[in-house]
Amino acid sequence: MTEEIGRRGFFREGFRAFVRALAETAEATKEFKGKRSIDRNRRIRPPGALPEVHFLATCEPLACTACIDACPCDAIVPVPDSFPDAKTPVIVPSSRACASCLDVACTHVCEFGALIPIESPDQIAMGVAILEEETCFAFNGTFCVTCYNICPVTPKAIRLNERGRPEVNEDPCTGCGICEERCPTEPRAIRIMPPQSPPPTNEL
Ligand code: SF4
Ligand code: SF4
Ligand code: SF4
Repeated sequence: MTEEIGRRGFFREGFRAFVRALAETAEATKEFKGKRSIDRNRRIRPPGALPEVHFLATCEPLACTACIDACPCDAIVPVPDSFPDAKTPVIVPSSRACASCLDVACTHVCEFGALIPIESPDQIAMGVAILEEETCFAFNGTFCVTCYNICPVTPKAIRLNERGRPEVNEDPCTGCGICEERCPTEPRAIRIMPPQSPPPTNEL
């Protein structure tokens, strides 16, 4: 009997510890998401964004958060106030990638014309995935095909070479960033690079 009670107590304590660990993990995740780190040299704008120079001249972040509000997966966040482009919408794929929602919702709500409407997720072109072999597990003796498995486009924008290592095929890549979000290395071995901004023109 004593042994039975002891065992029950053991399991009860174990269960409590498990629940505590779950709560701590949820709290840590919440905290992490609140602190998305913004890269000074990289801006992944929402789908349909005008080239960067024009985007900055057109977006009205003090008056509008429509694309941020429209995203069903909270992938679009405002740039923090400490940056020159404060409050403009940006995607930080390592924290939360674009889920390529079917109606490409964010592109249909910009009243200022900073985001051009896109009808289908396969037309998204936010950037292209760049793979760093130096830090990629698959090139350094550890099995990993996470980015290949997760790439959602058809045909896949990541293929495996004859040695089972990933290679990016830029053509079908939409820059959705799911590969960067899920890459297990820190810093990420695969990152999305936005298209180059064209030089400023007289239009501005
Ligand atoms: S396409 Fe959809 S999931 Fe992607 S950023 Fe826009 S609203 Fe969010
Ligand atoms: S390679 Fe990465 S960014 Fe490009 S489509 Fe596939 S998952 Fe998206
Ligand atoms: S997910 Fe990251 S580490 Fe894994 S194969 Fe792709 S780039 Fe390499």
